[in-house]
Amino acid sequence: MKVLVINAGSSSLKYQLINTEDESVLARGNAERIGIPGSCLKHEPAGKDRIELKAEFKDHTDAIKMVMDALLHPEYGVIKDMSEIGAVGHRVVHGGEKFSESVLIDDEVMGAIKENIELAPLHNPANIMGIEACRKIMPDVPNTAVFDTAFHQTMPKKAFLYAVPYEAYEKYGVRRYGFHGTSHKYVALRAAQILNRPIESLKIITCHLGNGSSITAVKHGKSIDTSMGFTPLEGLPMGTRSGNIDPAIISYMMEKENLTSEEVNRILNKQSGVLGLSGVSSDFRDLFKAAAEGVERAKIALDVFVYQVEKFIGAYTVAMGGVDCIVFTAGIGENTPEIRKGACSNLGFMGIKIDDEKNNNIPGKYKEGIISTDDSKADVLVIPTNEELMIVRETMELLEKN
Ligand code: AMP
Repeated sequence: MKVLVINAGSSSLKYQLINTEDESVLARGNAERIGIPGSCLKHEPAGKDRIELKAEFKDHTDAIKMVMDALLHPEYGVIKDMSEIGAVGHRVVHGGEKFSESVLIDDEVMGAIKENIELAPLHNPANIMGIEACRKIMPDVPNTAVFDTAFHQTMPKKAFLYAVPYEAYEKYGVRRYGFHGTSHKYVALRAAQILNRPIESLKIITCHLGNGSSITAVKHGKSIDTSMGFTPLEGLPMGTRSGNIDPAIISYMMEKENLTSEEVNRILNKQSGVLGLSGVSSDFRDLFKAAAEGVERAKIALDVFVYQVEKFIGAYTVAMGGVDCIVFTAGIGENTPEIRKGACSNLGFMGIKIDDEKNNNIPGKYKEGIISTDDSKADVLVIPTNEELMIVRETMELLEKN
């Protein structure tokens, strides 16, 4: 069977068509500038060059139509008939407290996703548009929703409640939800597979370090704590997001600079993190280059980032009463030996040691493997994340169950 994975944003729609027999990607692409003049579809069939197809998409339904045309095209298509697509799996950012696992989409589920718009006003509406477009164009094909928050629904109250008046939780759902759940789950499962140990026996710390970053404590296969919170702003400093700060800074800045809540939100989400600290870039490649050229603030930004990663690893080791395995994933986690080494440099007292040779030259085609020494007390791994594959697997499980 073939499963179409959709990740719909407000003005873009990413897709992958995956063959479930061997989990290979048949085609991938991105419909860009939906509803904005100059929209186009970038489509890449497996083993062929990416092509750019110009077309005006006024909405997500137009974009999905164009994706289907590309997938079915005699020259650059990869299927002969729409009926080859057995299901569509959608990434949905916020499942709130309602969804602790992936679900088959029906009208009731759509209603519940809509109820969560308040919690994710930028993301859930776009995800909904993607789902509605697929339901319209492929009415007989089942759709599933795989939530970024679902994996973290196993967190205990002591980890997800903030120490603010309890009514904020009861009235407005103010609590830690956590994000990147699909990625944390995928790499935790993959780590157990690589180590050839049941996930139920492992204490794993998963470090998803990308443009957005979060760290999760996965105890015996379940998320028991995670660094992102009510929104994806909490936790580590990120490309442009501040991560944890003293909450009093917000009203202080608002008063000092006469800012509205919208303006202060923009500063914390778009102008902070390593960009704000360095004044150079949100991209770690640029930061390494600038640091090597002697730009002091770029060095500081990298130091602050690594220090916070270290602190979360320490905190989650204690939260789980030990650690068997630390996993690095996403753009920074997969590609920067310096950050991995830095984040583990103070773990020697627990007997955790990085093997420099392995860390600098990750073996194998998939750039996946163990980077700790043979005698290290915990295994440290690099695992490329694959949220699309996780969405396909969850979709297949749901189809089998129903
Ligand atoms: P992601 O959000 O997972 O796509 O990660 C994006 C971030 O990963 C970029 O902003 C870069 O900071 C970082 N990144 C990706 N590739 C590299 C690389 N080769 N070296 C350093 N940083 C990288």
